[in-house]
Amino acid sequence: MITGKNYIGNNLIGVGDKFHRTINAKLNIENPSNFIEATSKELNQAISLADKAFKIYKNIAGKERASFLNSISDEIMALGNELIEMFTLESGLPEARAIGEISRTVSQLQAFAKMIETEDWKKNIIEMGIHDRKPFPKPDLRKTYIPIGPVVVFAASNFPLAFSTAGGDTASALASGCPVIVKSHSMHSGTGELVASAIIKSVKKIGMPNGVFSNINGRGMSVGQALVKHPKIKAVGFTGSLSGGKALYNIGSQREEPIPVFAEMGSVNPVVISSKSIVSRCEEIANNISESIMLGTGQFCTNPGLLIVIDNEKTISFIKSLADKMIKKGSQCMLHPNIKKNYLTNSEIISNQEGVTIRGKIKGKFDANFVSSQLNTVSGKDFLSNSILHKEVFGPFSLVVKCKDEAELIKVINSLEGQLTGTLFAEKEELKGLEEIIEVFKCKVGRIIFNGVPTGVEVSEAMTHGGPYPASSDSRFTSVGLDAIKRWVRPFTYQDWPTDFLPSGLRL
Ligand code: NAP
Repeated sequence: MITGKNYIGNNLIGVGDKFHRTINAKLNIENPSNFIEATSKELNQAISLADKAFKIYKNIAGKERASFLNSISDEIMALGNELIEMFTLESGLPEARAIGEISRTVSQLQAFAKMIETEDWKKNIIEMGIHDRKPFPKPDLRKTYIPIGPVVVFAASNFPLAFSTAGGDTASALASGCPVIVKSHSMHSGTGELVASAIIKSVKKIGMPNGVFSNINGRGMSVGQALVKHPKIKAVGFTGSLSGGKALYNIGSQREEPIPVFAEMGSVNPVVISSKSIVSRCEEIANNISESIMLGTGQFCTNPGLLIVIDNEKTISFIKSLADKMIKKGSQCMLHPNIKKNYLTNSEIISNQEGVTIRGKIKGKFDANFVSSQLNTVSGKDFLSNSILHKEVFGPFSLVVKCKDEAELIKVINSLEGQLTGTLFAEKEELKGLEEIIEVFKCKVGRIIFNGVPTGVEVSEAMTHGGPYPASSDSRFTSVGLDAIKRWVRPFTYQDWPTDFLPSGLRL
């Protein structure tokens, strides 16, 4: 049952007088529960508990933390239909997506659990001392990684489960030994509370310290900003808008003790399609790209929002085929009214720019949060002279840039800001001749894809989900995959310590 309260550590508390409601995305009406915003006293309690819990949790063995993560995964599965129903109600996403996200959420937890059962992930380094080295003895040095402290995670609206309360940021931070305070997303607070209840059950069942996890409600900026400003908070994980991520990053870096804010903020995910591949696989590529643009109503950070081609006759039929396929999908529901409003505003801004033609859009008005997809086209010359066209439109939208030749196409990629992904559709034989495009891409993106689509981010060790700013605030890290744990730890060296005092992973 939903209470609308905050989990301040293990206790459900909500004495504040501000509240919000989530929206039934398909009908655009408020859902019945009131979610009570945490008061500043409650925020401070949650942070104080997290700080106390950290002193215990950081020293709990990896195997025990692994049992905790596995228990969270079991408790999430035990939520069953209640979780699926709440997810679909609050997000407007279909049941299949709820099931897919539950599966991704629990497999992320299990993957981190498996990883921390041993110390291998830390890649500990043991350098024996050389006491008779001349002219100076060499000290005995043993390097490991230790958790940095309580972390704030902002739940992401576009992944109510896999990137929210017990999503990738939370799973990786708990795996590393850091307590987590989640700022619940105001548009799926019910889903958040259910998942938080599963985490708290596991905290109690496995005997983890009270305060290792809290779930905080709040709408607007004040709650999130107060969390990031608090001196006991040592890092932040965020997925969402550029404006939100940048604001929180600035707060984090302007504190008396600056802290890292790992913000993943968006991307147009450029896709270059060679003329040869259009000739040989026009329909196949149009089909793959249209599916990718429309997936989850385009509400993925890896949505292919920019398609770059050389302008010729074949390209005209490719664009027509793509536009037809997008229209055929019909209107689709967006996550919440604010995302819909942003989509309509931003797609209109692009459509009104000099030289832009609208394609692939269904005419008419739609109910509630339903929208039409949109495919626009523009010349390379107009794109290069207008930076408004470089901005992300979050939703089922893509802009085709028609370049006059390869030199212009390279200029177009060069003009872009940092991106999560870059994709190249080409024939294998022509790759040698496309080296310059590949090199330019490498400077701009965190993941480069060959003959595939950028959506569908595998959760694995080799994944990079991040990229040069503004795709993310720190391109040296990934927010998806097992390496995401590195955001929450710092290197730490023991010098000349007796073996008995060293952690087991640093003993020979
Ligand atoms: P958002 O507005 O960035 O919000 C994400 C979270 O941060 C929410 O909890 C929000 O609070 C909080 N927040 C936002 N701005 C803040 C600020 N200045 N100070 C403190 N907290 C702040 O993202 P959203 O609600 O998910 O969607 C809005 C837009 O973000 C979309 O239309 C889309 O353009 C973009 N977006 C991008 C991605 C991506 O992966 N690139 C993903 C999702 C959204 P509330 O709960 O009160 O809103």
